[in-house]
Amino acid sequence: MLRLSRIVKNYKVADMDVQALKGIDLSFRKNEFVSILGPSGCGKTTMLNIIGGLDKYTSGDLFIAGKSTKEFKDSDWDVYRNHRIGFIFQSYNLIPHQTILGNVELALTIAGLSKEERTAKAKRAIDRVGLEGQYHKRPNQLSGGQCQRVAIARALVNEPDILLADEPTGALDTQTSLQIMELIKEISSEKLVIMVTHNPDLAEKYSTRIVRLLDGMVLSDTNPFYEEDEIAEVEQSDKIVIAEDVQKKEKAKMSFWTAFKLSARNLFTKRGRTIMTCIAGSIGIIGVSMVLAVSSGVKGYINSMQDDMLSGNPITISEETYDLSAFMGQMSSGEKLDVIQGNVNVSSLIAYIAEKFTGDNSFIIQNTITEDYINYIKQMPSDYANAVAYNYGINLSNNIYTGFKLNSNSTSEDISLTALLQMYTAVMKETDFGEYSSFIQMLSKSMSQAIPNEKYILSQYNLLGNSKVATSKNEIMLVLDKDSSVVDLTLAQLGYYTQEEFMDLAINYNDPNADLKKRFTYEEILDKTFMYYPNDTIYKDMTSVLGDTAPFLYSAYSEGFNKSEGIELKVVGILQPKEDISYGALSSGFYYTEDLAKYAIESAISSQLMAYGYDKADEDGNFNFGIRTDDGNAKYIVPYIYHYTTVEGEYRGNQNGYLTTSSSPMMSSMMGSSSSNSFGPSLRELGGKSIPNGVTIYPLSFDEKDLVTDYLDAWNAEGTIIVGNKTLELKDRTPVEYTDTLELIISIINGMIDIVTTALIAFTALSLVVSCVMIAIITYVSVVERIKEIGVIRSLGGRKKDVSHLFNAETFIIGFVAGVFGVAITYILSLILNVIVQHFAGIYPICALPFSQACIMILVSVVLTCISGLIPAKSAAKKDPVVALRTE
Ligand code: ADP
Ligand code: MG
Repeated sequence: MLRLSRIVKNYKVADMDVQALKGIDLSFRKNEFVSILGPSGCGKTTMLNIIGGLDKYTSGDLFIAGKSTKEFKDSDWDVYRNHRIGFIFQSYNLIPHQTILGNVELALTIAGLSKEERTAKAKRAIDRVGLEGQYHKRPNQLSGGQCQRVAIARALVNEPDILLADEPTGALDTQTSLQIMELIKEISSEKLVIMVTHNPDLAEKYSTRIVRLLDGMVLSDTNPFYEEDEIAEVEQSDKIVIAEDVQKKEKAKMSFWTAFKLSARNLFTKRGRTIMTCIAGSIGIIGVSMVLAVSSGVKGYINSMQDDMLSGNPITISEETYDLSAFMGQMSSGEKLDVIQGNVNVSSLIAYIAEKFTGDNSFIIQNTITEDYINYIKQMPSDYANAVAYNYGINLSNNIYTGFKLNSNSTSEDISLTALLQMYTAVMKETDFGEYSSFIQMLSKSMSQAIPNEKYILSQYNLLGNSKVATSKNEIMLVLDKDSSVVDLTLAQLGYYTQEEFMDLAINYNDPNADLKKRFTYEEILDKTFMYYPNDTIYKDMTSVLGDTAPFLYSAYSEGFNKSEGIELKVVGILQPKEDISYGALSSGFYYTEDLAKYAIESAISSQLMAYGYDKADEDGNFNFGIRTDDGNAKYIVPYIYHYTTVEGEYRGNQNGYLTTSSSPMMSSMMGSSSSNSFGPSLRELGGKSIPNGVTIYPLSFDEKDLVTDYLDAWNAEGTIIVGNKTLELKDRTPVEYTDTLELIISIINGMIDIVTTALIAFTALSLVVSCVMIAIITYVSVVERIKEIGVIRSLGGRKKDVSHLFNAETFIIGFVAGVFGVAITYILSLILNVIVQHFAGIYPICALPFSQACIMILVSVVLTCISGLIPAKSAAKKDPVVALRTE
């Protein structure tokens, strides 16, 4: 059955060879009870370990069933141990965290048997050693004798041919020793039993053969079995054994799942420490996950605002624009942050840029908007945009008249919006009434052109009172702020206040006790009417009288106008931004329709004023001539309406005066905000140009914005474009730059978020590194703790791989639990943070860890802990089973 041929075993101790076995020749029968006797240190254990395949001999050969083991690979030894050998140790070497059943099953588990098979076989083995019904006890609940019985059951369960026992009774009292010996004796009736013992009496009493060793050599043998006999015995036995071997060999593997379950049970027994490890391991995961959660929460919030912000930040095309992206390139991230902190809209951006780069003209783009270009935009698919608004640059303040009262007792007279604007400008400049005088800058064009899309407007604004959206040319509407207020100045400029009321308000503006602000009902706002008169009505040709010095007379009052020449404008709507709208397409103020603008241009083009203007205008489209106001209306103003200083002198009160050049407030107001240096109003402001000088496109949604910009980009790119019946090559087109402010804002914000996120992740990743190191240490501690188990598993035929699987499974579980725990904590923290932030800032959700990122974080946790555990697990696998078992 077994034959040792000149077996030598040397141990290297401090560069010296210690000869533990010095050439052992021994043969064993298939079926006998051999006792090995000898003094301590003579090499008994060493020989047993070599027979059992736990230790490798230095030279010689070991024949198993006639087969040399010289060429055995690790896997062959594993199979041999698993199927041929059963080990019994003096110190039992039971695995403390496994039940008796689990301990006994281990060899079968390693062999890869199914659960039912394992349990059945293990129970049978336990029954056989006399421990019926104690399957689920743990080793620490048993006596020494019982433990050794379990160890015997474990050794027998795989039905090995050879049972190796190293001082099995060494730790037992005499009584128990005898019982164990009886058991072993019984087993020896069907197997080869080789038992090392100190006790010659037991050897004499139970064994059939006694081999004595001394100093690594056989001293005597009471029943020698010779080499020839052994060879003969092998030849007699069936060849089937070999075939069986092959079959068994394939089976000798423990699945990762089994390793997983073994480790899970081990971790469960040490659950206190496992939980602590997982919590510690999860801290890094929580840190990184929280950063990711906040980052994606903020991005989500910004995304959710994109459509909302879009209406306040449309795509604009104008004759003069800033190259915002060039600006951005020049800005540091700190400066970008300033812009963001200011307020996310165009005006803050422009204001910032204007302040930062004053005088740097390289950022200014001059666009020439041609008729072809306008037609090209008109050709844009209608489903790209909610609305396309064309800005003609006209100022209808000269053309619109409204009723105005000096005070509640005076009668109402119709005065033009320009005249009203002038009056308040002059009065406030003159009177210096506290803070209100600083509002002069806020006096501006009092009516603007609305976006021509009722549906789009209604999607953002609620109608107040009995009102509707202005759609036809005789309708105007008022847009309020979100808090339903409207600037007093706006109302004053449109004649809603009497002069007296407004001046009271201005004077007492800083008095907290004064509640002077006039409250208007919707009806009062809607009640007021305005009159639009065309150029030919308001500008009277005086060329025959005064020549080119003041060729036209402008009437600031509509007294005497033929009403049938004008259009009565009704305020039909009061609009308020909807609750969820942060950036509406219309800012607060009064709006007339595009229809009115078009009508005004049409009538302006054919007016006498234009006939003169087209002739005299300079190349910038401005014409330098005087418009005289008729006077005699100063009676409305206290102390005076006008206060002009011209080269000719000072004009005050109700004096007549010719208004020439831009030294008069009227002129500057009529010039609008144009940066032109030339004097006089421009043709455009007076309605002389039918081609728009600006286009505002409100994309349907954030997604459609790209379609719009692609469409606009195509104009400046290579290729043929057909506009109407014209085919335009690139050389036929004047390039036009548009401004996509939202894109810039979003890209700045997302860029900032990415920078911050990366920085935070880098920072929190430090804790991940700490976790990894800790996991490595804990795994290493676990390896040290489980060194006996490693030895047992190896002695039962477990492969190195099985051992490393065991520890890898352990780190896998820790990594997974830590990951899940970390992600769960992240979600809980997010929940809390979201509630707080929603309460204080109204933003929800500020933390939103996407499910995919949560999964990735769990994966990261698993991968990192597994990597950390890899080295300790490998070191565990490399542990010499002999050393492992000798370790106390
Ligand atoms: P026994 O079991 O008969 O008491 P052992 O087989 O344990 O003796 O040891 C035989 C000899 O080999 C002893 O001198 C011991 O010190 C030595 N020895 C055993 N294992 C090792 C080892 N791993 N490294 C070095 N020397 C060893
Ligand atoms: Mg020994």
